[in-house]
Formats: sequence, structure tokens, C-alpha cells
Amino acid sequence: MPTARDVLTVGTLSAGHGEKRYGTNEFSVDGQPYRLPMWLINGVTEGPTLVVTAGVHAAEYASIAAALELGRSLDPASLCGRVIVVPVVDMPAFSARSIYVCPLDGKNPNRVFPGNPRGSASEQIADWLFRNVISQATYYVDLHGGDLIEALVPFTIFFRSGDKRVDETSLEMAKIFGIPFLVSSEVKGSAFGAASVAGIPSILAEAGGQGIWTPEDVQCHTNGLSRLMRHLKMIPGGAPESVQCTLLERFLWLRSDHEGFWYPAVAVNDAVKAGQNLGCVKDCEGLLLQTALSPADGVVLFTVSSLAINRTDPLLAVGA
Ligand SMILES: [Zn+2]
Repeated sequence: MPTARDVLTVGTLSAGHGEKRYGTNEFSVDGQPYRLPMWLINGVTEGPTLVVTAGVHAAEYASIAAALELGRSLDPASLCGRVIVVPVVDMPAFSARSIYVCPLDGKNPNRVFPGNPRGSASEQIADWLFRNVISQATYYVDLHGGDLIEALVPFTIFFRSGDKRVDETSLEMAKIFGIPFLVSSEVKGSAFGAASVAGIPSILAEAGGQGIWTPEDVQCHTNGLSRLMRHLKMIPGGAPESVQCTLLERFLWLRSDHEGFWYPAVAVNDAVKAGQNLGCVKDCEGLLLQTALSPADGVVLFTVSSLAINRTDPLLAVGA
């Protein structure tokens, strides 16, 4: 008979040793049923628990496609430890093809973690996910990519929580994931940031963008997950080869001060100098409203590709 320790349980779903379960957990958000699909994959031998989420930003399709691929393909017979895959955290946003925010409350879900059971819809979803899924993780990976209006060069973000053990392990995970750009973040409210603060080594991987999910971008995520699981000895294949990485300590976002038309002057992966013109915001007539100057020497990690820009919207980001 399996003991309680042998069984992997999330909400109403469970998987014993050597079992894989796909199912949907249902819970209440604003008094309405909220359905969250997931895979529980419980390996044949003991090992760490890896949690993988995607679709916190639900139009970042390369990351969602990669999470689906992982959940569908992972074989418990060759797994050491446990993996929980939640491929689309924000299903209402996925259905609505919503940019940045959850349509239930207009909030960016990646700014409300670890959530609040008495808060707005995004906060309730974050709370359920954090308590039932993320808190079970030994290691946590949140998959993202550029949103519908964002172009980006792939990069991996690790969070500086201040806990040396956690932060060193998160940086190690980021290096192992195999994307050459590593970026440090201290932005509060992200899922991986809240997990780091709770003592769980965590990373956020970014690949994809503009509503496109190329095989290369999907593979960027699946390859990183495979490398990490091999490093953790969760799947066979041996330790992955090391990748030469560039560590960017600062993730500098530039935002629009105006509603208008955005004309970027640089592309993703461009090296830029402090003070360089990165683009401008104009009004309908063509008058200059704002010039975006690079705050540092660095590399352009993402640009907003939409001509339409709103006040406080991101324009682009420089890693330095
Ligand atoms: Zn995102």
C-alpha cells in the first residue's frame, strides 16, 4: 500500500509512485468555478519536486507550448522525483488573448504573488496556485516569453531574495537552463520572486513573443527544462554541457509617459550605450512627445512592437 508520503497530491488530484495524472482542479474565484488543468507526474524513485508553470501571461505561447509538451511527454517510469506542470495558469486570459492582464480584474498576475484569498480574481488565483502547487516545489520554473506586442531575445531571470542559499541555487538553475543571457531581478509580486522569498530556488525563463511560437523558441524552453532535470538527476542523460552566459545585474525598463505612437530605434539583442536614443513616442501629428534614452551600457532584451502605446506602458528594457 502506498503511504501518504508516496502520493503526490494537488487539490483533488493525486498520483502514486510511478503514476502520471492529467486533470483539472476546480476552485472558487469571485464565487465562480475556476478550472486549472495540470499534470502530476510521480516518479518511480524518490527525488526533488520540480514545479513548472506557464500561462501566467497567457498569450506567451512558446512557453505554454513547451509546458504542454513537457506534461504530455514526461514518463514517470524514467523519472526520479516529482514534477507538477500547470500549462496555462490564467485560462480566462488565454481564451481572451489578453495582453499583460487577467480579464477578470485587469491586473497583471505576475505582480500579485503570493496572492490573497480575499483579494481580486488574480490574487485569489495566485493564492490557490501558491498554496497548493508552488509551495510543494523543491525547485520552481515559471515559463514566459514576449507578450503579443513584445519582441525579445531569450533570457533567464533569477530573483535576489537576500537568502544566500536560495539565491545561489537560483543562479545555478539559471546557468544550467542554458540561455546565454542571465538577468537579476528584485521586482516584487512575481510568482518566481514570491517562491524565492519563501525559500524555494526559482527562475523565470523568457523565449518567444508577438503571438508566435516557433519550434526554436519552444525548444529553448523544453531544452532548458531537460537540461535542468538532467542536472538534478531527475531524468537520465547525464549532466548537461555548460553554456557561456552573460550575467546582467540590472534589468532596466523604460516606460511611456504619454499615449501615442511608439517608434523604436533599436532591435532586440542590440548592444547600446548609455544616453543612446532607443526610440521615441510621437503624437498623431508627428510631434515628439518623448525620447527613450538608454540608462546604461547594455543589451536590448525586449522591445514593444506595437505602434500603439499607452501612458505607463513598457517601451523596452535594457539589461546591464
Ligand atoms: Zn510574461
